[in-house]
Amino acid sequence: MILDCAIIGGGPAGLTAGLYTTRGGLENVTMFEKGMPGGQITNSSEIENYPGVTGDITGMDLMMPWPEQCKKFGLKHEMVNVTRVSKDGDIFTIHKEDGTTSQAHSVIVGTGSSPRKVGFTGEDEFFGRGVSTCATCDGFFYKGKEVVVIGGGDTALEEAIYLAKICSKVYLVHRRDSFRSAPNTVERVKRTENIEIILNSIPDEVYGDNIGVTGIRVKNKDGETRDIEVPGVFTFVGNDINNQTLIQEDGSFLCDMTEHGSVIVDITMKTSLKGLYATGDMRISAPKQVISAAGDGAVAALQVISYVDELLN
Ligand code: FAD
Ligand code: NAP
Repeated sequence: MILDCAIIGGGPAGLTAGLYTTRGGLENVTMFEKGMPGGQITNSSEIENYPGVTGDITGMDLMMPWPEQCKKFGLKHEMVNVTRVSKDGDIFTIHKEDGTTSQAHSVIVGTGSSPRKVGFTGEDEFFGRGVSTCATCDGFFYKGKEVVVIGGGDTALEEAIYLAKICSKVYLVHRRDSFRSAPNTVERVKRTENIEIILNSIPDEVYGDNIGVTGIRVKNKDGETRDIEVPGVFTFVGNDINNQTLIQEDGSFLCDMTEHGSVIVDITMKTSLKGLYATGDMRISAPKQVISAAGDGAVAALQVISYVDELLN
């Protein structure tokens, strides 16, 4: 059997694509997810910015009903790691780690992205308890408080500016004496009164107590250390896009990508390859939020319904 649609990844993007394709009338849709469905938000202890959510809920609480809702409309779930997606003529092949393959008329990928780690002591221990990789998600928890931002690229500087609007002070710690970020953004950072720039310095250790982070020790290139007492440390040292399934046997990508590995899509989530759609954190200019990933999934699904209809009728 050839699937109407194969969905790769079961985060907010993939699950929403599953809901809209099945509820929209496609009968043979399978979501290939290597773990439990829900995506990376299930690691979050608190989510406040998903519309309609008012109580204290975790990412796991938020995502728990999503697979159940999809199942009701006929979405099938195969728990497997997809190693590659290829296309021959109009048919896609889904290559899986267990050695089996599936075929599909259309594919929606939503395999997310992973923030890179800095590598300081306490980074893992305090992740989600003061160490964060998402200012839009967690900045509000530090309203009126001081925070540290690590990194010197566009993301770190833009997020430092964002945080400076919420927090009383932002310490921007960068390992070199010049920034990688666009000069215009560097100027905006310099003009922001409550951002203190700390150059030639790396984080040595984040420490805290049972509740969370209480401070960070940074070390400059002369080996001198400085302790900064803050409850929040935001790290922005680059991001790895989970695009491995789109890499072909000859090393090329199945569709057009940016130089940083994000999938290039138009506003309907269409990639450069007919029948292939990319959604959520892995697509170009992704806001990296649950709401936007879910929105992408819905947009792609509506496109897929028309695409499959035209292809088969
Ligand atoms: P993901 O959620 O990353 O899902 C991708 C899925 O694909 C995963 O389940 C993965 O297992 C699967 N997968 C990957 N590769 C393969 C493969 N080869 N084969 C099969 N399956 C595969 N956003 C907010 O809106 N508000 C918040 O408060 C918030 N807080 C956050 C807190 C934390 C700690 C983290 C980590 C993120 C937070 N985010 C928040 C961001 C949000 O989680 C992401 O933007 C969102 O989950 C992206 O959804 P996605 O579906 O694109 O990808
Ligand atoms: P990036 O450009 O790779 O920058 C990562 C930063 O983190 C660099 O300054 C790097 O230092 C630093 N870093 C890396 N590893 C580190 C470590 N272990 N310890 C301390 N510091 C470390 O990543 P990004 O900022 O996420 O941007 C990714 C791409 O998206 C870039 O091309 C960027 O221009 C683009 N982007 C564009 C916009 C925009 O146009 N508005 C917004 C966001 C991102 P070094 O500089 O010393 O290497």
